[in-house]
Amino acid sequence: MKLHFHGAARSVTGSRHLLETRDGSVLLDCGLYQGPREEAFQRNRVFGFDINSVHSVVLSHAHIDHSGAIPFLCKMGFDGPIHATGVTADLCRPMLLDAAHLQVKDAEFFNRHRGKTKPPVVPLYTPEDVERALGQFVPHPYDEAFEPLKGTTVAFHEAGHIPGSASVEVRWRENGRDGSLVFSGDLGRPNRPILRDPAPLPKADYLVIEGTYGGKHHPGEVALHEALERVVKSALERKGRIIIPALAVGRTQEVVHALDKLFTAGRVPEIPIYVDSPLASEILEIVQRHPEVYDEETVTAIRRGEDPLGMRRITLVRDAEDSKKLNEKGGTFITIAASGMCEGGRVLHHLKQTVEDPKHTIVIVGYQADGTLGRRLVERQEEVRIFGEPFTLRATVEVLNGFSAHADHDALVSQAKSCGAPRGCAIVHADPERAEALKAAINPAIQTRIPSEGDAWELP
Ligand code: ZN
Repeated sequence: MKLHFHGAARSVTGSRHLLETRDGSVLLDCGLYQGPREEAFQRNRVFGFDINSVHSVVLSHAHIDHSGAIPFLCKMGFDGPIHATGVTADLCRPMLLDAAHLQVKDAEFFNRHRGKTKPPVVPLYTPEDVERALGQFVPHPYDEAFEPLKGTTVAFHEAGHIPGSASVEVRWRENGRDGSLVFSGDLGRPNRPILRDPAPLPKADYLVIEGTYGGKHHPGEVALHEALERVVKSALERKGRIIIPALAVGRTQEVVHALDKLFTAGRVPEIPIYVDSPLASEILEIVQRHPEVYDEETVTAIRRGEDPLGMRRITLVRDAEDSKKLNEKGGTFITIAASGMCEGGRVLHHLKQTVEDPKHTIVIVGYQADGTLGRRLVERQEEVRIFGEPFTLRATVEVLNGFSAHADHDALVSQAKSCGAPRGCAIVHADPERAEALKAAINPAIQTRIPSEGDAWELP
């Protein structure tokens, strides 16, 4: 048994890990590399492994940096099963179709600007490729083992990161011996509203754990609400808008939930919230079909006819025309639009309109990978580029890490402990500094590595 790291190694994007067995390989996640356009363009056109060796795909969750290369894998000839939880399988439809639209647009952009010497490119994949790939999905309930490959069983466990997210427990028998590995996927946070808490990672011989926030601590609920209150009040004073780059799934619900609490308590006056996304209504409808993703408190409130998600507070903006109209609107209001790292999507249009005016506020609620526009906003760089044009950053940038969908340092360490005393541990999905910080906190008796892309790990 061998694990090959083909992405999200010393970085937070492009999750792909290939588990090689005697009888074939299982691909854990098949994500897109998300980063600067040119680099992403090149990197996403190669897999680094033989596609024909892949017997099946096991997908931890629907985020594009974990699922976004699946249609390309299928386009290149993979016709095996893609295993995921039921919610993940359902969410992949709007998420991957949206990714396909962005790929088509990206190729058009590249072809318009390629100059005379470079040949035209075709999109990485199209909506038709997505439809074909969706036909290969096999949904599974949580905590029920299935066999993605002869002699290897897999079970999904609640990861509490976004609806449908799972940690992956793999068990096998090779050379007369039993072996096991747990791949954490992206881990959520315990004791947060709305979603179920992440389940403790099962005991296993080997652990592959994410380390996005290694060494970092998220503020508690009270501090977070205070910070949000301050942001809203100060925007109201300046009569400016608030732009929040975020996907319609996951963090958006937490932000709306927190705003709902502030409005209800009268701590800030109610202001309009627009969730500007062609996907939002579809995603919300999918999640409503799967109440099993919510924690008990949320389910009970829904059953009582209450609105624990604060849905009455939001206006969904589906049409591109209505999205443009938001730019003509005066006063203070909140626009939540994707992408979370500002590398594409409608949020770019809103940023273009607001970034140069000091009365507006950009609120960052998710992790911003190196090299993305989101990271440059967090670093408050003087000049930022949007659609290739330079803009002077004058708007206020606020970072509210408390809305992160990722476990912080303490939660990661506690998850690593719950895996028992594995024979080895690998930290993935983390920038090197964060991975080192997590490694320093893991029991030194456990051999812990921070793999690079292309590394192979023998699992004897
Ligand atoms: Zn994720």
